[in-house]
Amino acid sequence: MLPKIALIGRPNVGKSTLFNRLIRSNRAITHDRPGVTRDRMEGYVKVGDRKFIIIDTGGITLDEHAAVAEGPDELRGFEAEILRQTEEAIADSVALCLVVDGREGLTPFDESLAAYVRKSGKPVLLAVNKVDGEEMADLYMAEFHTLGFPVIPLSGAHGFNVRAFSGELFDLLPPEDEDAPQEEEERPLKLAMLGRPNAGKSSLVNALSGSRRMIVSDVAGTTRDSVDIAVELGGRRYVFVDTAGVRRRAKIQDPVERYSVNSSLKSTTKADVTLVVLDAVEGLTQQDKRLIDLLDERKTPFMLVINKIDLVPRDGLTALKRLYDDALTFCKHVPIMYISARSGRGVDKLLPMARKINKECYVRVGTGLLNRTLTEAVTRHQPPVVKRVRPKFFYLTQAETNPPTFVFFVNDHERIQESYARYLEKFMRKRFEIEHAPMRVRFRSSH
Ligand code: GDP
Ligand code: GDP
Repeated sequence: MLPKIALIGRPNVGKSTLFNRLIRSNRAITHDRPGVTRDRMEGYVKVGDRKFIIIDTGGITLDEHAAVAEGPDELRGFEAEILRQTEEAIADSVALCLVVDGREGLTPFDESLAAYVRKSGKPVLLAVNKVDGEEMADLYMAEFHTLGFPVIPLSGAHGFNVRAFSGELFDLLPPEDEDAPQEEEERPLKLAMLGRPNAGKSSLVNALSGSRRMIVSDVAGTTRDSVDIAVELGGRRYVFVDTAGVRRRAKIQDPVERYSVNSSLKSTTKADVTLVVLDAVEGLTQQDKRLIDLLDERKTPFMLVINKIDLVPRDGLTALKRLYDDALTFCKHVPIMYISARSGRGVDKLLPMARKINKECYVRVGTGLLNRTLTEAVTRHQPPVVKRVRPKFFYLTQAETNPPTFVFFVNDHERIQESYARYLEKFMRKRFEIEHAPMRVRFRSSH
């Protein structure tokens, strides 16, 4: 993950001008430009091979002192949400840039915001904007220095000092961790196998890894419980985590007693994607259902692998598939794969599916698409009136990845019906191309 720096400041000091200048002069990719400029935007700033993400927060309007002195609860409506966005941006960032207007001098609200960013304990740079040439640089500088942050005069509109500014921003970043993986895709994809003894987990690991397997953590002194098997297939690396557990559980004589749902869940937290292996002949037990239910609830990225289809008669497969589809309607997004670890049938589809799920977990939706999707979804199917009031949607943001988490800002979240929430999720899945990954959808009120 790239480090982030947020531009903070009251409206009209020139944050978006600076934002655009920073990302344009570096020819970086930016997320869609939203229709509403008060939204949060992110863009890449790149110099040489160093990179960070700059966040342009919305401004803070309304009663500016209340915003800071009394906290977000005292504010109402849209503005309160903007403040919350600023707060979120501060939380997401490793460093902050407070932007002020060099022509207006230091305002009380600037001072309140300065206190606000100082409280975060993160490195802060004070950008004095609208200094349209060196002759203006001394105008209010003394005043701005009283805040105690490093200060840089500049002009977003005319470009004065912008290059030095981006250099200063890079200096705010923590030193790079040499050992950290450079890109998300370069590290091996970690897979966990869950399922009752004899479902075929070990056979499947064998079928997938063949002779290329390499046990990576079976070193003396490490616990036997965490044997990981690393393989490289088609130029990509995978690690099957916790396979000692897989093997050990396979030997246990009393499956009902030992196949504990809770201990199974532990290995899923170490994995990027979990494969739940079921025996096609045995069918779905209560315990399997409980496990699937829990994985779904915990937003674990997973797929179901129905093994041993070589034992199912050819004409029985359609009926079998219908059976699973019907039993699992509560988690429609979870892929169901039919395979035989013994004959190899269907096995080649598993790893591509795991990669797809993992990729979808890290989808980031640009502000433009978020806005368009909200408008489209609400226009196509209005939220039903609840207690004589129709819920009103203000905007949609993506708060997180893995799982992708979307937050709808509405006038009253208690008026959003379950069925409408499900409709919105389905609509977003289609638009954002998140087919099989878990997804979180939240509603927040702004009164
Ligand atoms: P934001 O609300 O903080 O994002 O501010 P904007 O970027 O929208 O800018 C507010 C106004 O200030 C716009 O009219 C800009 O053209 C103007 N502005 C921004 N940067 C400069 C600058 O460096 N010099 C001058 N003179 N005006 C600027
Ligand atoms: P685990 O306990 O989940 O690791 O299951 P194993 O991989 O040890 O398999 C349990 C039994 O099922 C073994 O006898 C396997 O040979 C058998 N088995 C595994 N996969 C298949 C399959 O696809 N078809 C058939 N017919 N048998 C299988």
